[in-house]
Amino acid sequence: MANENRKQKSDRIAIDSASSRRAFVRKMGGTLAATAIVSSGAGAVSAAETRRSYTIREGTEDETRVYVIDAGEPGPTAVVVGGIHGNEESGYLAADDVATWSIDKGKLVVIPRSNPVAIDRGTYVNDNGNLNRKFPPGKEPTTALARALWNAIDSHNPNTVLNLHASQGIYREDDGPDGSGQAIYPTYSEGAGEDAVMTARYMNRYHVPDSYPEYLAFKRGNTIDADRPLLIHKVAGDMRIRGYILEVTTYDTELDTRVRWHLNMVRHLLRRNGIDRTYD
Ligand SMILES: [Zn+2]
Repeated sequence: MANENRKQKSDRIAIDSASSRRAFVRKMGGTLAATAIVSSGAGAVSAAETRRSYTIREGTEDETRVYVIDAGEPGPTAVVVGGIHGNEESGYLAADDVATWSIDKGKLVVIPRSNPVAIDRGTYVNDNGNLNRKFPPGKEPTTALARALWNAIDSHNPNTVLNLHASQGIYREDDGPDGSGQAIYPTYSEGAGEDAVMTARYMNRYHVPDSYPEYLAFKRGNTIDADRPLLIHKVAGDMRIRGYILEVTTYDTELDTRVRWHLNMVRHLLRRNGIDRTYD
């Protein structure tokens, strides 16, 4: 109930902001307002960005923040989720940063630390096991935290969902341990596969120096097809939208490099989904 009240309050803040913007346009008069709309299209007038955040699972050990950045210009909605596995620091550190970004249009929803207990302990799992096995496609998520996360994501009606992970191994390489690192795994929705290919290519061209070993090159991972109880599998099956698992490897890499890789993949994938990061 507390969450429900909070949500209504937050929504009201957003509405207030929108109506004061309308009042502002009205005050400017018809001709000026029309000019403003044209200028806005050319980027001369900055949009009325709103930022808010709220807590899910409040009062429990799982309580965590959801950040909502609304550009104030119509556009797609993207969700970025970090920290499902508490020992994969690069994911939640990158997502903490993404929660401070500004964007040119649409809405960016960030849940940086989706598994706070596991993050606190620095462990892969929490007391209920692997959080990323609690999202069966076509069914209710199987823990309270998974349900709260899914409801938070679903309530924003996203066009795309990105989930950040790190692996101790390497995907499809003879060198290093086996694992899922250095790959972008797309859902089976149209366009996601190409996004993964193009993002891997972009990363290798601009963010993996030639001096790095070949096995650190990013790849397109296998297609996420809703046949396993992972968050992005549920996104694929239930939402039928473009989604991605972004995996870096901890093998032979530094934490700050992994964070930077995540940030660049997120920025590039948002761009491919119609949202540009903006800078002051
Ligand atoms: Zn993971």
